[in-house]
Amino acid sequence: MKLRMLSSVVAFCVVSWAGAAAAVEARGPIWDDVNAKVTHTTYYYCNSANGFHGSLDIGNGTCSVWNMRGMLVGSFFWNVVSGYSNCLGTPQTPPNYAYVNGGSGYRFFQYHHNHNASSASKTCDRCALGLVGATGQAYGAHTHAQHNQNSTILTAWYSGYVTCGSKSSGNHIMGRPAM
Ligand SMILES: [Zn+2]
Repeated sequence: MKLRMLSSVVAFCVVSWAGAAAAVEARGPIWDDVNAKVTHTTYYYCNSANGFHGSLDIGNGTCSVWNMRGMLVGSFFWNVVSGYSNCLGTPQTPPNYAYVNGGSGYRFFQYHHNHNASSASKTCDRCALGLVGATGQAYGAHTHAQHNQNSTILTAWYSGYVTCGSKSSGNHIMGRPAM
């Protein structure tokens, strides 16, 4: 009985310990397209306070052609919620999305992909999670990259790395979210 309790405690500690939060490099989700760029940052319309958005939108004007890859450099467990496809230019719900849980309440999200054979939860380093799409509240195919801590949207993770219109292929550093 004592041994069994001990093993349960050890297992709990391993599962719940996510380590101290540290900055992780994030790169563009559309690896090999030189035309991929940042279309929105803090506000929906770049350089004007017309609705808080808080996150990076990254697109290339095409839908379901390119893989949406995990942006975090390193091996992470990606939770993938997926099942739909949408290339229409009008918002439709529900969205597909993928996220990584970090320590200290940090969570990194990528939204809007279209479902394909890659769309399953897995541990990997910048692997394909689906196709760049428009599921959810999206007016066109793109990836919405959002960093939260305890449900609060953080924007400092991309400050100093990207601006509206900047290039965002997999060669470009998008920011350094804490995880
Ligand atoms: Zn967005």
